[in-house]
Parts: sequence; C-alpha cells; structure tokens
Amino acid sequence: MLTIVEARARILDAVARLPAEEVALGQALGRILAAEIRAVRPLPAWDNSAMDGFAVRAADLPGTLPVAGVIAAGDPPDRVLARGTALRIMTGAPLPAGADAVVMRENAEDLGDQVRFAAPVRVGRDIRRAGEDVNAGDLLLAAGADLGPGEIGLLAAQGLARVPVSRRPRVAILSTGDELVPLGTEPGPGQIISSNAVALAAQVREAGGEPVDRGIARDDRDALVAHIRGALADADVLVSSGGVSVGDFDHVKDAYAAAGLAMNFWKVAMKPGKPLAFCVAGPVLIFGLPGNPVSSMVGFELFVRPALLAMQGAARAARPEAEVVLGDAVRKEPGRAHVLRARLERRGPDLVAHLHPRQGSAMMTSMAGVDALVILDAAAGDQPAGARAPALLLRMP
Ligand code: AMP
Ligand code: MG
Repeated sequence: MLTIVEARARILDAVARLPAEEVALGQALGRILAAEIRAVRPLPAWDNSAMDGFAVRAADLPGTLPVAGVIAAGDPPDRVLARGTALRIMTGAPLPAGADAVVMRENAEDLGDQVRFAAPVRVGRDIRRAGEDVNAGDLLLAAGADLGPGEIGLLAAQGLARVPVSRRPRVAILSTGDELVPLGTEPGPGQIISSNAVALAAQVREAGGEPVDRGIARDDRDALVAHIRGALADADVLVSSGGVSVGDFDHVKDAYAAAGLAMNFWKVAMKPGKPLAFCVAGPVLIFGLPGNPVSSMVGFELFVRPALLAMQGAARAARPEAEVVLGDAVRKEPGRAHVLRARLERRGPDLVAHLHPRQGSAMMTSMAGVDALVILDAAAGDQPAGARAPALLLRMP
C-alpha cells in the first residue's frame, strides 16, 4: 500500500498545467499568476514629498525663509525652488528642482508669508526618490505567485488592468449512494443529505477551482458509468465520493474501469480514508474519495488540493507544515498513518494541538473548528501528551 507521500508524488507526477487566460485585475483575487510581471514604469515616477511641509535647500537652514508658493499633489513636476526660499509642499506632490529636503509642518513655525526653521535638516530628509520602490524592468512578481490584495495593488500602481492567470480547474463533483438526497430536499426514512457535495465544492473553491455539481449517482454500476462519462466530458478533475470500499454496493472502482479509466492506485496507508482511487485519463485526474465525510474532506485536503494548485502552477501548492505538541495522549496501533483533526493553541514558542475528542471518520462535528491536520506516521504507536508530531496548518490560531 502506498504511503501518503508516495501517493501524493504519483498524483503530482500526473498533473498537467492548465492554460493561461487574461482577467481584469479587479477579478484576480486568489488567482495564480501565469507569467512573470516586470515593471513597465518606475515607482515613484518622480521625486516627491513624503510629508506635508516645506521644500527647502538644507544649506539654507536653520533660519527664516520667505514662502514662495505651494505645490499640491497632482501638480506637474515643473517647479523650481529659488535659493533662500521655501515652497509649501503636500504629501505626494512633486519635489521642485533645487530642493534637497522636506521639513515636515510640525517642525516648522508657519508665519504665513514666511516660515521659521529652528533646526537644520539632513539632505534627502522626507523625499521619496523616483524609482526608489520600483525601477522599470524590475521583476515584480514571479509566475506562480498567489494574487492577494497586496500583489493586486502593486500591479494596479503599474497600470496593469488585465493580468495573465492560470485558468481555474473545472472540478466535477459526483456523489454516489442510494441513501443520498441533495441539499434542499428533506431526507425521507433511511436517507441522508449529500453534505459531501457541498463541503467538496467549498474545498474546490478554496483551492482556486470551479466546482461543478454532477449530482448523485445511484449504487448501480451502469448508472455510475453513465454519470462518470458525463462528468468527464467537461472537467479537468473528477472527484467522486462514496462507493470505493468493499461493501456489496461499492461499485465505483468497477465503474471507473468500465468507463475505460486505468487505476493508478486505490489504497493509501492512512486513517481515515484508506480506500482512495486515483486514475489518469490524459490531462484529466480522477479521484474516488471515500464517502465518510471526514475521509472525504481529509482525502481532498491531502491529495486533491495540491493537485489543483499544481495544475494552476502555484509556487506554493502545499500547506505550510509545522511541528506541534500533542495536547492529549493518543492511542494508535502501528500500521497506517493517522490524520487527526486538531485545534491549535499558542503556548510560548509551541503550537499545542488539541485533538478533537471524536476522531471517527463519520463524526461531522470533528470537521468544524479545525486548524491543523496532525499526521502520525505509519510506524508510530501510542503517543503520550507532550509528544511532537508534524502537522499541516490549515489556519493559524
Ligand atoms: P461509502 O464510502 O459509500 O461506503 O459511504 C460511507 C459512509 O459515508 C456512509 O455512511 C454513507 O452514507 C456516507 N456518505 C457517502 N456519501 C456521502 C455524501 N455525499 N454525503 C454525506 N455522507 C455520505
Ligand atoms: Mg455508498
């Protein structure tokens, strides 16, 4: 049986990069940059004032100088400061030729037509030099960068109204099971709501993908094959949940084979979520996740999310990892890796992981309030409280 690391490596090997598309910068939040971006203009474009105050020649200070005028932000950069005078200047306004310092208003005594400076000023004080932030041609962002508000602001300052990003992966989500009804339908006797479809769609969005709900397939091989074929028609990734274990009605593996998909692997040495089918059909990746809600979520997090990010060329396709301290003792038999849901607490330099008390794969409450997935490797046995273990950080406390 493959380890988590081996299974993930096989998946990443099979990833095909998605093509680029151009989007409006205002719509680019969370997208992955498809090409590097170089500066097309310097920032700032001209020397300007960092403060509201007075543009001066440092050599004229200390002393009292006549105020020869005012320069506002937005004025053209064509003013000249005559020797022995000061110009009133606002933050962001172009520095006049001849000035070599700005004295902030709070350090000047404003007399109206004149201004008195009690102290000298250092040459260069409170001046923002042309190009000190960015020179034309500078590498601003590398391909694979994740576009957050800061990156978007930088590109906006460059006047880039459209940016090349990787197309979002289209992810077909297929639920399987005779017991399932879609959200919005009241379940009858013996029925449950297909919560996986909704949770998986949220996970897809969080990973930059575009979920497409392909509905619920009954536990019947032919019905499954038809659903799988339909879902594959227009998807970069197919994620099914349920029907991958060894129950009498678990037909997903057979259905994948009947749909012409070759199984790359179908088991990973982990708990929860040991049965996990993976197939590759050209550029399309197919994941058969188990039906238990926790197994489905964990399987997505460990295997589907990194694939979706790698398809987009993300420089950071993996969650950050950190060593955590177990807040509680854990019972574990050697054999498979355990993936435990935990809430994190900072305690001095340590991150303490408080494991959810119910780690069963059907425990819906253990999926809420999760900060980290703690991974106990296959060989590990019982762990005392205070033991250290690696964890994937989903969010920081
Ligand atoms: P299976 O993997 O099909 O054997 O399903 C394992 C468990 O997960 C069963 O209790 C199913 O009812 C449940 N399950 C399967 N699919 C879903 C789903 N889409 N939403 C919520 N629970 C599900
Ligand atoms: Mg089932």
